[in-house]
Amino acid sequence: MLAEARLLSAEKTWSPESLHALQEWLQACTTSHRACIPSSTSHRLPLRLLDVCQGSGLVSGQYPPGMDSFDRFSAAQQPSVRLCSTRGLPPNTHYVTLSYRWAESPRLLLTKKTESRFEQGMDLGALPPEDVAIFRDAIHVTRCLGFRYIWIDALCIKQDDEEEKGTEIMNMGDIYGNCILNISASEGVADANGLVYKRDLLLANPCRYVDSGQSDAGPSAVFGEALRLSGSGLSQRGWVFQERTLAPRIVHFTRHHLLFECGQRFCPEWRCDTGGSSAETSPYSAVKDLLAVRSDQGPERNEVPSEATHRFEELWYRHIVPLYSTTKISFHSDRLLALSAVAQRYCAARKLQASDYVAGVWKPDLPAALLWRHNVDVSGPVYDSISLAPSWSWASSSGEAWGIVPHRLDAKASVLSVHAEPMSRNPFDGTRSCVLRLQGRLWKFCRREDGNKIRWYNLANTHALSEVASCPVPGQNEVGIVWDRTTSATKALFLKFQPPNQMITAGIGRPALYFLHVANSQGFEEGLVLHHRDGALGGYVRVGFWMLEKGLCVPGELERHEFVEGICGQYVIDIY
Ligand SMILES: [Zn+2]
Repeated sequence: MLAEARLLSAEKTWSPESLHALQEWLQACTTSHRACIPSSTSHRLPLRLLDVCQGSGLVSGQYPPGMDSFDRFSAAQQPSVRLCSTRGLPPNTHYVTLSYRWAESPRLLLTKKTESRFEQGMDLGALPPEDVAIFRDAIHVTRCLGFRYIWIDALCIKQDDEEEKGTEIMNMGDIYGNCILNISASEGVADANGLVYKRDLLLANPCRYVDSGQSDAGPSAVFGEALRLSGSGLSQRGWVFQERTLAPRIVHFTRHHLLFECGQRFCPEWRCDTGGSSAETSPYSAVKDLLAVRSDQGPERNEVPSEATHRFEELWYRHIVPLYSTTKISFHSDRLLALSAVAQRYCAARKLQASDYVAGVWKPDLPAALLWRHNVDVSGPVYDSISLAPSWSWASSSGEAWGIVPHRLDAKASVLSVHAEPMSRNPFDGTRSCVLRLQGRLWKFCRREDGNKIRWYNLANTHALSEVASCPVPGQNEVGIVWDRTTSATKALFLKFQPPNQMITAGIGRPALYFLHVANSQGFEEGLVLHHRDGALGGYVRVGFWMLEKGLCVPGELERHEFVEGICGQYVIDIY
């Protein structure tokens, strides 16, 4: 057997054996992990909690149970739980939370109608297992760990009370941030299995991989699929992103075993927590680290941007946005709401104001924050248009957005104003409408088919671009475009500069592309590809991102309705 590993022998993923491992890790995390000390200074409890002892014949304080009483705490033997208000509970009351994927049409919900029934006590044994299996298993885990309360969104927030839902969504940062443990149904399936699976022990146990060159290989040499979580159903869900980011510690229930994740550890059940350096860290640990910064330690505002500010910029645009933008969400209208608790925590940690946030972008990071692009290496989604963010925000279309590091860019456009009308009373939600006014260099190209070739002509300067087959990296004389909303066949486009031609005006029509120069990065000029908005003086929408090697910018002349004001080759325009 491997020194750092224990042999799993239980046939099911939840048993006295896995409880023992979970207890050990929880004990180590809450008492000796320095990275896991709660950072939130606010101890606001959720509005309601489920009391898993009341009415079940179990008495709080009996816990933690001996291993022999494992089954006695199951929902099968003690099916009753009661909904209770947290008014009157001490603010540091321990409670567990649950991350899971909702069923397609959940039948067990807290509503104005079911509230009094839930308060008197609900009998989970009387309900079909596919509706409540995850809840029943999570309640068993909670009881076995010696905790009395669990928070489950569907059962603790009145689902037909929009006012209450809005308020509790704004409290998500505290609800998850202050929980003692988050139980994650990481397979992301809502069925009669609940959290517990019958497993193949050969797959669940580690084995040593002997490599003649590396005889000291640790026990991690084994699992491929079983260990990885990124491909699992739940972690791809949008709402789960902030639950995973904000909860201080998570136990993932997977098909093969439990996985423990906290600020300091990311390890499977079979690995003993020896505190050694061989432990893996969570892919979320960078995010957890910085978000845990207390507001009195964050970067100073209005100073010359410091190292700390740069770390925060990288955190948002290199970690949070790419990780979150790949998640899936059932309703587009939740796209920014499901990130709002993370945005709120980030705002406090970086010492910004809520008014600095606009639809997924921080105003101090403009104009560089405009330069996101979709990852064209991801196989071919059609990116949906999402109306709760302006076209220049990454949140306006689905698909992985990445590419921005504001402090490494030299801005070439100036932001004059941002006018946003918020979508809801939550300042970290999307916008109903939003206009960005800025000043910068703009060139205009019109499209024309020349035989079987398609060319784009800059009328003022007689430069032409012709579409060429995709090339991996834009080189000299080529401008690379990544479209925002597209099909797999036309994710990116490369245009090649042609030598100056004679003035051509005939046969050139719409649509025209406008290239706005936003910033320079190392060796490249970068900007937005825009379409003119009909009927709006100087109004545009973003349709893509472009980049080319430095030194080829050829600003053109615009017609009067295509800009708001013009000064020496610099145009003032509005982007919606
Ligand atoms: Zn920990």
